[in-house]
Amino acid sequence: MDLDFTPEEEQFRLRARAWLAAHVPRAPLPSLETEEGFAAHRAWEGTLAADRWSVVSWPEEFGGQGADLVKWLLFEEEYYAAGAPGRVSQNGISLLAPTLFDHGTPEQRARVLPPMARGEVVWAQAWSEPEAGSDLASLRSTARRAPGGWRLSGQKTWSSRAAFADRAFGLFRSDPRAERPHHGLAYVMFPLDAPGVTIRPIGRLDGRPAFAEVFLDDVFVPDDDVIGAPGDGWRIAMSTTGDERGLALRSPGRFLATADRLVRLWHAHGDPSDTALRDRVADAVIGARAYQLFTWANASRSAAGEKLGAESSLNKVFWSEYDIAVHEAALDLLGADGELTDDGERLPPRPPDASSPDPTSPDRTSPDPTSPDPAPTDPAPWTEGYVFSLAGPIYAGTNEIQRDIIAERLLGLPKGRR
Ligand SMILES: Cc1cc2nc3c(=O)[nH]c(=O)nc-3n(C[C@H](O)[C@H](O)[C@H](O)COP(=O)(O)OP(=O)(O)OC[C@H]3O[C@@H](n4cnc5c(N)ncnc54)[C@H](O)[C@@H]3O)c2cc1C
Repeated sequence: MDLDFTPEEEQFRLRARAWLAAHVPRAPLPSLETEEGFAAHRAWEGTLAADRWSVVSWPEEFGGQGADLVKWLLFEEEYYAAGAPGRVSQNGISLLAPTLFDHGTPEQRARVLPPMARGEVVWAQAWSEPEAGSDLASLRSTARRAPGGWRLSGQKTWSSRAAFADRAFGLFRSDPRAERPHHGLAYVMFPLDAPGVTIRPIGRLDGRPAFAEVFLDDVFVPDDDVIGAPGDGWRIAMSTTGDERGLALRSPGRFLATADRLVRLWHAHGDPSDTALRDRVADAVIGARAYQLFTWANASRSAAGEKLGAESSLNKVFWSEYDIAVHEAALDLLGADGELTDDGERLPPRPPDASSPDPTSPDRTSPDPTSPDPAPTDPAPWTEGYVFSLAGPIYAGTNEIQRDIIAERLLGLPKGRR
């Protein structure tokens, strides 16, 4: 395998790096799980979009740069290395957009994608229901035929950022007489401020209010907002889940940047005699690099026209478990400080230990309050990252389910008992 980049790819990387250096906010934005932070992140999406960096891999007509998968991965590496803000448009960009590219009409693409790219319309995913998480096909929310469209009723839950988002996409039972549960489902887009929609935030461990459940009471949507044929929703949704678990949701750039921060934390606080912890830091670096190489391999296969399919489950199990391990290593390095976080307030970073192996250099260990890249010794981002990482084995399909998929479809093992 050739791991060298072409001169054009290198140039793309440098162009992205220069743009990010000039535009990434100097101070971290407030959490996008709060109203204030959501607005700030929405504005950031607009800044990205103004220079076509919000959706680099989309065709130019929808606001992108027509970049291929390799360039998208390079952009992501630069994005995380620059400490740029989290993407509030992620559900739309990484889930709904690929679905529309594959199954939407030209009218839907022209109407939905450009405002999504600019952050003007932020989307929530409304799939899960109280009795339909892992077993999504048992969902009960309905779409009933009405003149010119459909009327939606039911309850969706665990919808990330739905408290502040503008619209949502979800699955609804459009044919109650269908013989099998995954038949007769419609894939529908709907506004979250329509008459009949009630949003109720769900309390999260960190107390932030964006996570929500969505109640629908006879909500009208026009035919134009159904993706694909009504009744074909399951097939369409399954193409989305591959994107969610596969390349799109967690690019290696995120973990390379976190591993780099962990190494810097080790330089600041690591005890050279603690070889067990030192090995975990080394494992974090090796894991991030392995994930990067695996993703490159998948990108090459994808560029050659292969579909990822069940392999995306390998990705999902790996990154979600990696994310917990790397944050646990950081918290162990921070010791008691790692348990301190004060309602979103940043605690002053602890100065590097005089006894640490390299207390004076590199100067990246000294916190720079104007830098968006959090100081590695600042406990708050580690604690917040740890709390969020605990959800990784649950969202995007639980790891138990992913392991079942790996066992059955990749390894050819017999089906487990359900
Ligand atoms: C932070 C977070 C964000 C989320 N965001 C969204 C969102 O934006 N939109 C959305 O629609 N949903 C979202 N979800 C919901 C998520 O997709 C579901 O939580 C997930 O699919 C699991 O469903 P469940 O919670 O109903 O658990 P259940 O399906 O009830 O599972 C409970 C436990 O039983 C196990 N289990 C169930 N069936 C099997 C089986 N057949 N074999 C082995 N083990 C099994 C599961 O693995 C799990 O450990 C989010 C969840 C979290 C935690």
